[in-house]
Amino acid sequence: MSAQIISGKEISESIRQEIRTEVQHLQERGIRPGLVVILVGEDPASQVYVRNKAKACEELGYHSEVIRVPADTTREALLALIDQYNADPAIHGILVQLPLPKHIEEKAVIDRIAVAKDVDGFHPVSVGNLMIGDDALLPCTPAGVIEMLRRSGISPAGKHAVVIGRSNIVGKPVSMLLLRENATVTMCHSRTPDLPQVARQADILVVAVGVAKLVKRDWVKPGAVVIDVGMNRLDNGKLAGDVDYEDTVETAGWITPVPGGVGPMTITMLMANTLKACKRAHGID
Ligand code: NAP
Repeated sequence: MSAQIISGKEISESIRQEIRTEVQHLQERGIRPGLVVILVGEDPASQVYVRNKAKACEELGYHSEVIRVPADTTREALLALIDQYNADPAIHGILVQLPLPKHIEEKAVIDRIAVAKDVDGFHPVSVGNLMIGDDALLPCTPAGVIEMLRRSGISPAGKHAVVIGRSNIVGKPVSMLLLRENATVTMCHSRTPDLPQVARQADILVVAVGVAKLVKRDWVKPGAVVIDVGMNRLDNGKLAGDVDYEDTVETAGWITPVPGGVGPMTITMLMANTLKACKRAHGID
């Protein structure tokens, strides 16, 4: 039997509908969530991401600013710009689009963003709060994965979750969130021996590697939930996940497609974080 599809597109739309309602209520009180996205340089992929974020803001009635600065902007100038938005009461979320030009250290920039406005969830304090289980603005893609499970009625509690990939933006935080949801979590990476055998033990398999179609049918336990975070551009221009969808769809119990799976959730969770930061700034919750 073919797996049930977990549509990030549909789940994302229903979350956006909920956000719209909340934004309307806030507007009645004269409050409007505000997001600034700062883009350094002209990386073409980053330009697309930034445009999509601004579009989502517009669609949801947020105040949105996109600040484009040249690639040779100094570290000091960028930090000063962040300070300016840290102090701006109309802005509740600050996102500096990564990657940055080589002469600017990403860590210095992330560290400078006020924790309360850290809607990417990358600040060390946000990461620490996630780790110790305190309330935090969660990184968007991992939060999106958990929300997809929740809204599909899949509880991680008591399940064996295997996460392939240990990056700071996906693998590690998604593992921590699954642990928080009471799964037993195994984290894998490029040095894990016999990966297919480990993956096959998973009730929930989350793949965030960046290798197109790495995960094949014999990596998947029959009936398992397969969440594919990967977004890889193939030579033919098409997008492919880290999971070989055609090969695994008959074995998995649930599966996320690429495109239309985790991808759409990421921007939606950014919008949800901005709303949360806005409500907190106004003492609402
Ligand atoms: P990353 O920083 O490059 O990390 C990749 C991880 O995968 C590393 O931990 C690496 O292990 C591991 N890995 C690489 N090759 C492997 C292999 N053959 N077997 C086992 N593990 C392997 O990547 P990322 O930023 O986490 O992104 C992962 C994928 O998710 C990419 O396709 C990216 O485009 C996609 N992504 C999608 C979204 C979205 O919105 N849908 C958001 C973020 C990322 P080591 O640590 O040992 O090197």
